Amino acid sequence: MDSPAFRTPEPSITSHEAMQEFLASLAHRSDGMQLGSVGQSTQGRDIPLIRLGKCGPDRPVIWLIAQQHGNEPAGGEAMLALASALAIGDLAPLLDRIGVVIVPRVNVDGSAADRRVLASGADANRDHLLLSQPEVRALHEAMCTVPPDVVFDHHEFSVRRRWVEKFNGLQGSDVMILEATNPSISRSLSAIAHDLYRPALEAAIGRAGLSSFDYVTTDSGTADMRVSLGGTAPGIARNAFGLRGAVSYLIETRGVGIGMENFERRVSTHYLLAKAVLEASAADPARLLARVAEARAATAADRSDLIVTHEAGERDIDLPLIDAESGAPMSTSVRLIDNRDIRPLDVRGRPAGYLVLRGATAVAERLALNAVSVHEVTGGALAVEAYEVARNGGVVQVEIRHRTMSVPGGALFVPMTQPAAGIVAAALEPDSPGSYVGAGIIPMAEDETEAPVYRVMDASGLVLWP
Ligand SMILES: [Zn+2]
Repeated sequence: MDSPAFRTPEPSITSHEAMQEFLASLAHRSDGMQLGSVGQSTQGRDIPLIRLGKCGPDRPVIWLIAQQHGNEPAGGEAMLALASALAIGDLAPLLDRIGVVIVPRVNVDGSAADRRVLASGADANRDHLLLSQPEVRALHEAMCTVPPDVVFDHHEFSVRRRWVEKFNGLQGSDVMILEATNPSISRSLSAIAHDLYRPALEAAIGRAGLSSFDYVTTDSGTADMRVSLGGTAPGIARNAFGLRGAVSYLIETRGVGIGMENFERRVSTHYLLAKAVLEASAADPARLLARVAEARAATAADRSDLIVTHEAGERDIDLPLIDAESGAPMSTSVRLIDNRDIRPLDVRGRPAGYLVLRGATAVAERLALNAVSVHEVTGGALAVEAYEVARNGGVVQVEIRHRTMSVPGGALFVPMTQPAAGIVAAALEPDSPGSYVGAGIIPMAEDETEAPVYRVMDASGLVLWP
């Protein structure tokens, strides 16, 4: 692998300056690579954006992002090596068939400080619905310029900590992988994740003699001995990319808390899997594009009920841990919260769209960053469904009331008949986790009970700006 960390006898963490120099040199030597900027971090560092090949409408665009968490360096290093292989190395022929966009280090400030979180203290990976952090907003702005068909998000998982505390073992897998898991993810997009990318990833893992597992995580409390198959929150990057209409996958190698141990193995694992993703995408790019387009059209035309809240099924699994003392394999039976096995709790008819009467500018701007189209209303009278809101601790609960309203000019109408409908419902149903009412982006007074956002089941009475 050609990357800065491996140009020294012992691999070392690549500094921000070394990364920039490496990329500038690559761009200088390559015709097919364009080096740009996602934007600036909170501390003023530039976040590099690498475009490789043509990203036109006739070929799929694959986004690879890494280091949303600053203390997870292997994915970012692999992205530098991959950029080199695509720009001036043996992977360059792939660029005749696909466009590739690489953001090797989203959290440049956290990386410089070897910290998980952004300089603000926020977790970038959880901010993809609210878009409150400059780094995450800039990433989505860049995605509006070169819209992704496929997004792979590279991380590293903790080896010790909770696993030792709760199960007395170390994480045993080289790599854990998981597709988007939210009940509103298009089934057709999930099908591409399952039947195109999953086999390609598994084959690459098998060829390299690496061990893998579905991505599981566990919380910090030792009372709860369960593990969870990722999470379903719409604001998690993996889920948000899926909800905005891209095939979305998470790749995690063993890494957090072990410093530079096995760094080359970790980086090459990310590299091999990303290479497998690009090769699978380039195998039949026209078919991939057609499948993604079909999935998006199906989402825009979908009239099925919305799952607003849900619970996940549980089952026992054998988790491949390692004995912390001897290093011997220690397969451990654990209870898995299976986020592929969803049971709906609150189900609602899918509206034609939503009216937003307050915070419209902030709502429109955030939704646009997630590929959602909105319209300004000039007026009209129509039947709506209103939300009676109660707050139970941090949890928003609603009751739906039917009424007629005359819509004030300047209100926002957000139609559900679009590919990113899953983002719309997640943001605007007030009791959806991380909703804009819950987060105060659509503000409500203390004593107010009716949310200034309404469900519109039939939008024909609305007058919109053209
Ligand atoms: Zn991470």
